[in-house]
Amino acid sequence: MAERLVVIGGDAAGMSAASQARRMRPADDLEIIVFEQSGYVSFSACGEPYFVGGWVEDFGDLQVRTPEQFQAKGIDARIHHQVVGIDLADRHVTVRHPGGEERVGFDQLLYATGATAIRPPITGMDLEGVHMLRTLDDAALLRSLVTAGVERAVVVGGGYIGLEIAEAFEHVGIDTTVVTMMPTVLERTLDPDMAELVSDHMRSMGIHVETGFKVECIAGNGGKVAGVGCDDRSFPADLVVLALGSRPQVDLARDAGIPLGPTGAVAVDDHQRTGIDGIWSAGDCAEAHHRISGQPINLHLGTVANKAGRIAGINLGGGDAAFPGVLGTAITKVGDLEISSTGLTELQVAEAGLEAVSARIDSTTAAHYWPGSSPMTVKAIAEKESARLLGAQIVGGPGAGKRIDIFATAMWSNLPANELAWTDLSYSPPFSGVWDPVHIAARKAAEKALGST
Ligand SMILES: Cc1cc2nc3c(=O)[nH]c(=O)nc-3n(C[C@H](O)[C@H](O)[C@H](O)COP(=O)(O)OP(=O)(O)OC[C@H]3O[C@@H](n4cnc5c(N)ncnc54)[C@H](O)[C@@H]3O)c2cc1C
Repeated sequence: MAERLVVIGGDAAGMSAASQARRMRPADDLEIIVFEQSGYVSFSACGEPYFVGGWVEDFGDLQVRTPEQFQAKGIDARIHHQVVGIDLADRHVTVRHPGGEERVGFDQLLYATGATAIRPPITGMDLEGVHMLRTLDDAALLRSLVTAGVERAVVVGGGYIGLEIAEAFEHVGIDTTVVTMMPTVLERTLDPDMAELVSDHMRSMGIHVETGFKVECIAGNGGKVAGVGCDDRSFPADLVVLALGSRPQVDLARDAGIPLGPTGAVAVDDHQRTGIDGIWSAGDCAEAHHRISGQPINLHLGTVANKAGRIAGINLGGGDAAFPGVLGTAITKVGDLEISSTGLTELQVAEAGLEAVSARIDSTTAAHYWPGSSPMTVKAIAEKESARLLGAQIVGGPGAGKRIDIFATAMWSNLPANELAWTDLSYSPPFSGVWDPVHIAARKAAEKALGST
């Protein structure tokens, strides 16, 4: 008789795992049932801001695969099925669906419930015109609102999702304000001096950026949102989007007795095992090992969710794969400004108890005389004495952002700054100077760390 794998959550981590396990084990050996509470499986949340802003026109493009496509591959993907309980002793889940409630047994269980947008306990949250952006339904609703006509919007939160929504609103002609309680935008991924470049650029695009403002109240008028803030400092709006970050969706796991780690997410080993026989976890709801700090981290990135899901799938499929950890490499853009980072910021380096130096250089994306060349700032952070790269950040025009992958690859393979400074990178005037800005930042960081190159 076939073993049964039940997957809770049908997006990046869950479907990567299910697909990989299916490739390795046929249906008569492993039955796979995926329960997904929403109406979609395998969708691109990452594309949602670009749908809201109208760059992506077809909503269907955000759906990577349909339940029917998974059914055809022998994966029983059931949408509108919410798992409401896990019984580890009896090895079954309780599932609520339009037809009622049922208990479904499992041999193996993958917990891949993702993360949920943080909903602050402030007055005015239920006013008409207050929204979040997490699910495809959220994206469809926001798109319909901006198409119907919005004059002023406030985005609460200066993380990358907040910035992407602000860019989308600006793109469709909405007067947009970003408010954050932090001293800068992107404070978790950029040092303040680099983040300042982003705020300056947003202001130059006409997006208002208000830092150091803690939202304690959303004002309304006749049941509709009127603005953010109810005291002296407030920002009028007829649409408010809260982008205050996300937290791992772990309630079911905690209730069932699946151990959580220090970050509050599900604790897993490098095989995505939870420590309870036959119970696995991957994606936004689970921890990962940070390759620089050496600590567990709970990152909410599609890159991590897809890889961790695939690792779980290989192991569920009878293989033996270990997840190698994360650096937290991320990229986004606002207008034509590209923003990327990898590893630790200066603050995170200090928190990790590491002694580091940093070098920040101003350069250009192409040879300075090339017509399309634009400014680009690179910061490299290296450990004192060893020159081990600990982090890097890039802010600049088109062509700047993806250069972070050079730093990420160097850090991944323990290439110190003094060696990165001499790597054989490509050059032609439309693409870079003869020394790429990555070389220059790495060399400066190495000089500071080692005293010479
Ligand atoms: C607007 C936005 C933009 C983003 N942009 C990027 C980007 O550019 N780059 C990047 O790397 N990452 C990005 N991300 C993050 C990325 O989308 C997530 O990291 C990724 O989707 C995580 O995948 P997951 O499978 O772990 O979780 P999720 O995608 O959250 O999927 C979990 C699924 O589980 C379902 N579920 C939860 N509980 C239950 C239950 N009890 N029963 C049944 N189903 C359940 C949920 O409905 C959900 O579909 C973005 C996220 C958002 C919201």
